[in-house]
Amino acid sequence: MTFVISGECCSDASCVAVCPMNSIHPAPGEPGFGAGASLFIDPRTCIDCGACADICPVDAAQPADRAAPEDVERNAAYFAEREALEATDLDSWEPPAYQVWGRGPQRVLVVGAGPAGMYATRELLLRTTARITVVDRSEQLGGLVRFGVAPDHPCTKQIIGTFERIVRHPRVRWLPGTEAAALVQEYDAVIHAVGARRSRRLGIPGEEAACTAEDFVAWCNGRPGAALPVELVGPRAVVVGNGNVALDLARILLSDQLDTADVSQQVRRTLAASGIKQVVLLGRRGPGEAAYTESALQELLAIAGDRVELRYHARPTGWTPEGLTLDTGETIAAGNLFTAIGFEGQPVDGLPFDAARGIVPNVRGAVVDRPGHYVAGWIKRGARGGIGVNKACAQETVQTLVSASRGAASQGS
Ligand SMILES: Cc1cc2nc3c(=O)[nH]c(=O)nc-3n(C[C@H](O)[C@H](O)[C@H](O)COP(=O)(O)OP(=O)(O)OC[C@H]3O[C@@H](n4cnc5c(N)ncnc54)[C@H](O)[C@@H]3O)c2cc1C
Ligand code: SF4
Ligand code: SF4
Repeated sequence: MTFVISGECCSDASCVAVCPMNSIHPAPGEPGFGAGASLFIDPRTCIDCGACADICPVDAAQPADRAAPEDVERNAAYFAEREALEATDLDSWEPPAYQVWGRGPQRVLVVGAGPAGMYATRELLLRTTARITVVDRSEQLGGLVRFGVAPDHPCTKQIIGTFERIVRHPRVRWLPGTEAAALVQEYDAVIHAVGARRSRRLGIPGEEAACTAEDFVAWCNGRPGAALPVELVGPRAVVVGNGNVALDLARILLSDQLDTADVSQQVRRTLAASGIKQVVLLGRRGPGEAAYTESALQELLAIAGDRVELRYHARPTGWTPEGLTLDTGETIAAGNLFTAIGFEGQPVDGLPFDAARGIVPNVRGAVVDRPGHYVAGWIKRGARGGIGVNKACAQETVQTLVSASRGAASQGS
């Protein structure tokens, strides 16, 4: 018997460190880490110890006999062409010796309580003796995990439980509903982990009548004050985009199994009354270049079957009440247009901004020309990558921060 990892995996790699058999890949530093949504367990070397399941914050690691058959297949298929790797040499294993920078920054402000801010806070607790203040303009922590991740993926949202434990640490002060601007001067170092929340635009006539993925997922997830900006009109909708967010959107629109999802009665009623029975998913490039993961596509096809049509190499030119026109002259008749073509960062007060990349320019997390200021997450590297990728990203930033501090390192515990 073996364990397998399901598509709910957010690849934060917590399980990699505890696996005694080096069975979980791609690990941080290996090709492919951070590129797909999920890690995989090698069935040839897994000894069924369960350590990965104990530590997984989203219940993605499970014994094969309790997992879905397609997950078992996916894990085996990933390793089919790869050699089995040597198990970690347990005899040479030594407990980690953390370097604690006692005389480094003692007051650190973390702006943003999404994955990047939370992983940065966790790393600061591990690597420094600093007191950390975490602020978020929202009243709730979690960022896009709470208000972006699809509501029919409750396991993925469980990682919020880990974040809640982090802000309860005695060295952390958590200030929900707070903008950073007024506080920045009071701190030795500031980590800006504010995400990237401006939706990209198609730039076609009529687009103002479209609904962006940001608005749709915020409404589905009950973000305070979020409302659907359009009326849902069946029977067909077009979703432009070729990433997992576009697939999430199509799945929610077509799902008749939202009863177990964490959505309000009003959202459920509005979706049921919409009359949307078909979704055309439109990608500008071909299937080979699509940004979605295989597991997300399989999940959509399992739920929607032939009610979803995948169209590639299609370039929209305009939206009218009749539907979406393409550069071929064809019009796809539809009642709603949804756009899920990515997000970009917005300038942060007082920091330089690279408008072309939508990020704050930085060197391994240190903001260029602004000593004491750091970035982590989507505002550091652009709006790419799942929840887990922000862990390695935040670790790099904290590493840069502690290296820049002048105090001598001492052995921690
Ligand atoms: C629709 C959607 C669905 C997704 N689904 C998945 C999924 O299923 N699995 C997965 O692995 N990944 C998923 N992702 C990707 C994942 O959500 C991101 O990798 C991650 O959230 C980025 O983390 P972040 O901390 O950089 O930004 P965010 O999560 O956006 O967090 C930024 C935080 O900063 C706060 N903030 C912003 N400005 C200020 C300010 N001035 N003052 C105070 N606070 C501020 C915001 O309120 C927010 O809480 C999804 C992304 C989207 C957009
Ligand atoms: S069950 Fe144990 S050996 Fe198998 S992948 Fe998980 S941690 Fe590794
Ligand atoms: S979510 Fe993290 S701990 Fe769980 S299986 Fe994926 S990488 Fe491992």
